[in-house]
Amino acid sequence: MGMRLVQSGEHSFVILEKSDGVGGTWRDNTYPGASCDIRSHLYWFSFDAQPDRSRVYAFQPEIQANIERLVDRLDLRKHIELGTEVTGARWDDAAGRWTIETAGGERIRARSLITAWGQLNRPTFRDIPGRADFRGDYWHSARWNHDVDLTGKRVACIGSGASAVQFIPEIAPIVSELTVFQRHANYVVPRMDRPYEPGERQEFLDQPDKLQESRDAIYWEHEGWMGAMKQGTPVAAEFTAQARAHLEETVKDPELREKLWPDYPIGCKRIIIADTFYPAMIRDNVHLVTDKIEGVEPTGVRTSDGTLREVDVIIYATGFETLSFNASLDITGRNGLALRDAWREGPQAYLGMSVSGFPNFYMLYGPNTNLGHNSIIAMLECQYGYVLQGLQAGDEQNAALDLRADVQQRFNAELQAELADSSFAGSCNSWYKTAGGKITNNWMGSVEDYKKATARLHVDDYEVVS
Ligand code: NAP
Repeated sequence: MGMRLVQSGEHSFVILEKSDGVGGTWRDNTYPGASCDIRSHLYWFSFDAQPDRSRVYAFQPEIQANIERLVDRLDLRKHIELGTEVTGARWDDAAGRWTIETAGGERIRARSLITAWGQLNRPTFRDIPGRADFRGDYWHSARWNHDVDLTGKRVACIGSGASAVQFIPEIAPIVSELTVFQRHANYVVPRMDRPYEPGERQEFLDQPDKLQESRDAIYWEHEGWMGAMKQGTPVAAEFTAQARAHLEETVKDPELREKLWPDYPIGCKRIIIADTFYPAMIRDNVHLVTDKIEGVEPTGVRTSDGTLREVDVIIYATGFETLSFNASLDITGRNGLALRDAWREGPQAYLGMSVSGFPNFYMLYGPNTNLGHNSIIAMLECQYGYVLQGLQAGDEQNAALDLRADVQQRFNAELQAELADSSFAGSCNSWYKTAGGKITNNWMGSVEDYKKATARLHVDDYEVVS
C-alpha cells in the first residue's frame, strides 16, 4: 500500500508497525523450512521490479530479504514507525479526522485510516490445559525459539497444519523422537519444488517476458484450482485423487495411511502443498498420535486414552486467532459506534475493505478476502487500487466516504449465499469460519471475480460526509 501511495504521488502518510521490523508474516515465521506454498514467480507484486528467485517455491529468508530490499529501494522506511502498536482509533465527526492512539501514548491525526494487520499473526495455543506447567521448553511455530538446539531431543508437535508440515521434515532427522499430535488430517498434494539452475535464473532476469509468461501460467493454473473450492466439482475430484495417489505412493503402512487421510471434502481446510511431509511421517523416530489431547503435564502430553508421552520440548503449531480481525481494539466510528459492536454478529465488510459507520476507513486483507486457491498478493493488489480510488474521491470532494449500510447488507447476503455451497462450508472445522459455521475469512469466488468487483469504486455506494 505504501508503494502504491508513493507511486500515486501521495507522500503524506505514516505506516505504524508494532514490531521492530518489516515483513509481517514473513518476519514472524522463521521456523525451519518456512516457505511459501505459492510459486515464487507469482508471489510478488505485479507493479514492482521482479526479484531474482533461487527456486520454484521460495523459503522465508529469500522472501523476507526481498521485502527489505523493496522497502529500501523505494525509500519507504522514512514513512514507517517501527515499535508502534496501535491500541485504538476514533473518528471525530466534527473534524472529519481519525485520531489514532498508540501504546506509547502517541496520538496521530489522519484523514484516512487503512489497516493492514493481517489475519494470521496472533498465535493461539488453543487453551490446551496445563501449558504453563510444562517443565521443558515450549513455543508457538510463529515464535520459534532458535536458542534451543533440538538435536537429540524428544519433541512433541501439536497440530499438523500448513506450518507444522513445513518444519516437521526439517526437525525429524535431528531429534531423537518426534510425536505429532494430529486432530484432523489434511489433504496433501505434491509441490515438486526444486532450485532454479543458474542459467534459468539468468534467463528470467534477462528476459522479463519469459518471467511474465511463467508468472501468468502459474496464476491461471491457480485460478483453475478455484474448482476445488466448490463441493462436488470435477476439479475437487481431481485434487482428491491427486492427494490420495501422493499418500499411497509414500505411506505403505495401511494404519498410518488412513490416519493421514481426511474425513471431510477437499478444500474445506487449506490444501497442503508439500513433498517432504509424508516421507517424514514414515520415519521410525516419528510417531503420529490422533488421540485427543487431555492436557499438558510437567513432563509431557497426556491423551484421552490415559497415555502420558514424555518429551523435552513442545512446539505448538496450533495456528492463529483469525476470527476477530482485531475488533478487540478500540476502533470507534461515526456517532460513537465501536467496531466490535458493529461486528457483534461476526466481522463483515464490503469487499473486505469498507465498513458502514466508519468513514475513510479501509482494511487490507479484511473479512472474506482470504483464498484457498491462489496468491493473496493478487487480492491485495485489487485492494490497493480500490483504496486509492477511495482516497482520491474523498480528496476531490473534500469529504469522507462512509459506506451505505444497505450496500454492506446486500453484499454480505449475496456473499454468504454464494459461500454456502463452497468447500469451506463443508463438514470440517477451520480458521476460515466461526464455530457456528459462518465463513468470515474467505472470498466467495476467483481472483478474477474479485478484480471485477473491485475495479471501480462507486461513490454512490458511499455516503459523502462533509
Ligand atoms: P492451522 O492451519 O490453523 O493449523 C493448526 C493446527 O493445530 C491444526 O492441525 C489443528 O487441528 C491443530 N490443533 C489446534 N488445536 C489443537 C488441539 N487442541 N489438539 C491437537 N491439534 C490442535 O495453523 P497453521 O498451520 O499455522 O497455518 C495457518 C495458515 O497460515 C495456513 O492455513 C495458511 O493460510 C498460512 N500458512 C501459509 C503457509 C504458506 O506456505 N504460504 C505456510 C504456513 C502457514 P485441526 O485441523 O483439528 O483444527
